[in-house]
Amino acid sequence: MDLPDEQSLEYTVPMRIFGGVAWGSVLTITVGSILVIIPQYPRPWLWVVPGLWVGLSLLGITLQWSVARGACPKCGLEQTVPSLGKRCPECRSYLKAVDRKIIRY
Ligand SMILES: [Zn+2]
Repeated sequence: MDLPDEQSLEYTVPMRIFGGVAWGSVLTITVGSILVIIPQYPRPWLWVVPGLWVGLSLLGITLQWSVARGACPKCGLEQTVPSLGKRCPECRSYLKAVDRKIIRY
């Protein structure tokens, strides 16, 4: 059976990895920029930044790994929910991801 609507919502593994690396990159650029701005920060220590990028990217992938994407159980709004939980922007329900499924709690 062909379900193009459900397939388009699927949060695939490459998307999770890309999302995690993108998240880590944004944070690394932010932290790196702050370190460059601080004049007292010793320049050789800027070499921690590439290590930070690897670490944050791995953390980002870990966080993205358990993220669920789908419809809110109450109002049906399509959204991405992290395992730590968030509130639905539409109906204010508390949602969290369990086994990549969105549940209300
Ligand atoms: Zn909702």
